[in-house]
Amino acid sequence: MRLLRLDEDGGKFAPHLAFSIISDRKEENIMPEIRQLDKHVSELIAAGEVVERPASVAKELLENAIDAGASAIVAEVENGGLTYLRITDNGCGIAPQQIPVAFLRHATSKLRKAEDLSAIGTLGFRGEALAAISAVSHVDIFSRERGATEGAMLHLDGGVPGEVIPTGCPEGTTICVRDLFYNTPARMKFMKKDSAEAAAVAGIVTHLALSHPDISFKLLRDGQETLHTPGDGKLLSAIYAAMGRDFALSLVPVSGCGGEVRAEGFVTKPLAGHGSRGKQVFFVNGRFVKSQLLTAALEEAYRNRLLKGKFPGCVLHITLPVGGVDVNVHPAKTVVKFVSDKQVFDAVYYTVLDALDAENKPAPGKEEKPFYQTMTAQEYKAKAPVEQPKKPVGSYTVKTVVPSAQPIHVHDVAPQPKQTFTAPAPDAKKNYVITPPEPVAEKPVQVELPVPVQETIEPKREIPWRIAGEVLKTYIICEDENDTVWLIDKHAAHERIRFDKLKASREVLMAQTLLTPVAVDLDADEYDAVLGNLPLLQEFAFACEDFGGGTVLVRQVPADIRAEDTAATLEELAHKLVLGRADPEAARDELLHTMACKSAIKAGMISDVSELAALVEKVQSGEIQYCPHGRPVKYKLTKYEIEKFFKRA
Ligand code: ADP
Ligand code: MG
Repeated sequence: MRLLRLDEDGGKFAPHLAFSIISDRKEENIMPEIRQLDKHVSELIAAGEVVERPASVAKELLENAIDAGASAIVAEVENGGLTYLRITDNGCGIAPQQIPVAFLRHATSKLRKAEDLSAIGTLGFRGEALAAISAVSHVDIFSRERGATEGAMLHLDGGVPGEVIPTGCPEGTTICVRDLFYNTPARMKFMKKDSAEAAAVAGIVTHLALSHPDISFKLLRDGQETLHTPGDGKLLSAIYAAMGRDFALSLVPVSGCGGEVRAEGFVTKPLAGHGSRGKQVFFVNGRFVKSQLLTAALEEAYRNRLLKGKFPGCVLHITLPVGGVDVNVHPAKTVVKFVSDKQVFDAVYYTVLDALDAENKPAPGKEEKPFYQTMTAQEYKAKAPVEQPKKPVGSYTVKTVVPSAQPIHVHDVAPQPKQTFTAPAPDAKKNYVITPPEPVAEKPVQVELPVPVQETIEPKREIPWRIAGEVLKTYIICEDENDTVWLIDKHAAHERIRFDKLKASREVLMAQTLLTPVAVDLDADEYDAVLGNLPLLQEFAFACEDFGGGTVLVRQVPADIRAEDTAATLEELAHKLVLGRADPEAARDELLHTMACKSAIKAGMISDVSELAALVEKVQSGEIQYCPHGRPVKYKLTKYEIEKFFKRA
C-alpha cells in the first residue's frame, strides 16, 4: 500500500477548513475579519470529531488493522483506555518511510478520488484517524511490512513526530496510545468512569469480532483476557466467544435473500426473548449499524410468537450492492440509508420468518420426533390448490383418535382398517390412501399431497404418548415414550390451532344469526373504525350495521362465540381496528387473535378427553409451540429432573 495525501479535489469533500471569527473589531455593522485557524487549533478541533473517547480510538485502530488484512488482532486497555490502549495486528505493515505520512491529515492509501466515496469497500476512508489520535495523545508505532527484514518505530507527542528508527519487530503493526486527551483537559472532563469506557471498547471489539469471524480478536482489560474469538471463519464460534454460551445456544440459523439483498446469520428462538433490544446486532456490508428499519423487519417476523414486552436477539449480516446503501450519512458511520427500504425490509422479514417456521418443524432425528406430516401456514398456502374449496369446518374435531377410555393408554387403541381420504379439491384426480405405518410409530407419515381441508389424524399407529390426566382444568399432563412428562396449556394450544387455521384461511367461520340483534355502544373512534370495516368484519362472520349515534347493531356473530360475548368481542375488535389503522395487515392479525382466543376452549372449562387428545397430538407433533401471543404451550419435565428432585438420580 502506498500512502498519499488526498489531492485538492479529494480534499474538498472533507469538511475540515475551520474558520474563526475574530471579534476584536470595534466598528459595528462590519463583518469581523475571517481568518483560517492555525494548524494546531484546527487539528484539535478535527481530532474532537474523530476521537470522542477511548472506544473511538480503538475503533479506528482496529479498523485499520482489519483493512491491513490481519488475521489476528489483540487489543489491550488499561484504565478504560484513557492511560493506555494498544492494538497489535499481523497485517501488511507500513514501510518505514511511509510511517510519518500515515500521521498526516487526509493521508490514506484507501481513497484517491471523490468518486471513490460512492463505492467504499474498506472501513476507514477519511485518512484522518491517525492524525487525529496522535494530536491528542502520546503515540508509539512499530511496524514491519510482510517479508521485510526489519521494521521501524516512531514516537509522536501531540501529533509532533520524532525520528523514524529502524527496529526489529514482528510482521504487522503495533500502535500504542498513551494518556489520551492529555493536552485537551476540556475533553477529559467528559470521560465516564474507567469501567464505562472499557465497556465501550469491549462493545467495539465485539462488533468487529462478529463482523469478521475469520479474524481472531483478543481483548485484554487491565491484563485480564475478557474476549477471545477463534477466527475460524464461523459466525457461530464468534458469537459463542463474544456473546456467551447461553445466547449462542438459543439461536437458529438464518439465510436467504430477496432481490439483491442477502440476510445471513442467527436469530433467537422465540422462547428465548430478551428484555431489551440490546442483543440485536446488525451489520450492513460488514459494518455495524443501528437501524430502526432492520429492527422492525426482525420483530415483525416474530409477531404472534414472542411474549409481549420481549425482544428477539440476533446477529444478522445484510449484504447488498454498495450502490444500494449510503454509509456516509453519519460521522460515526453507524447510520445507513438504503436506496430501497422496502427491499431490505422484505429480505430480512421473510428470511427470518422462514427460519422461524423451519425451526417450528422438528427435524427428523431430534429428540422430539415428528409423528405426522406437518405444514406451516405459509407452506400450506404455497402448496394448496389455487381454488381452495371453502368447506366450513366447526371447531376442530378429531374425535376418532381415541374412543373413550380414560386415561388413554395409547397401546390400547385398536388397529383399524385402512382409511381412505378423498382429496377435497374438485380437480384432484385421485383418492389417496394412507397406509398404516410399520410398528415403529415415529416415522413421519408420508402423504404425497397436502390435504387442505381435512384435519386428519392417522388413527392406526401406536401413539407414542399417553394422557395421564388434566389438572386445574387447564393443564394436560402427558407422558411420552422417552419417559418425558409434558404439561400442556389447553387454552394456549387450542388458541394457536384456531389462529393458524384462521390465518391460513383454511376455515370459513360459521355464522349464527342472533335471535335478538345486540346494540353495542362504541366511542367515536371505534364507531368510525367499525363502520369503515364492515366487509372485513363480515369476513369474520360479524354482520353489523349502523344504528346511529355511536351505536352499532350486531345481527350475526361467529358460531363459536357465545351470544353473551357479542358486545365484548365487538368492542375488542373495534379497539384493535382503531389501533391498527396505520397497518391493516397487523390489524387483521389482531382480529384473528381475538377470534382465536374467543373461540378456543378456555382454561377452567371441562373438556372432553378426545378434545384433549387432539390437542396433545398437535402439540406433540411439534406443529405448535407458542400461543399467538407468544406464550409457550407446553412445559417439559424429564425423568431425570423428576428423579433428581426425589433424590433418586
Ligand atoms: P484511513 O484508514 O482512513 O486511510 P488512517 O489515518 O486511519 O486513515 O490511516 C492512514 C493510513 O495508514 C491508512 O490508509 C493505511 O495505509 C495506514 N495504516 C494505518 N494503520 C495501519 C495498520 N494497522 N496496518 C497497515 N497500515 C496502516
Ligand atoms: Mg483508518
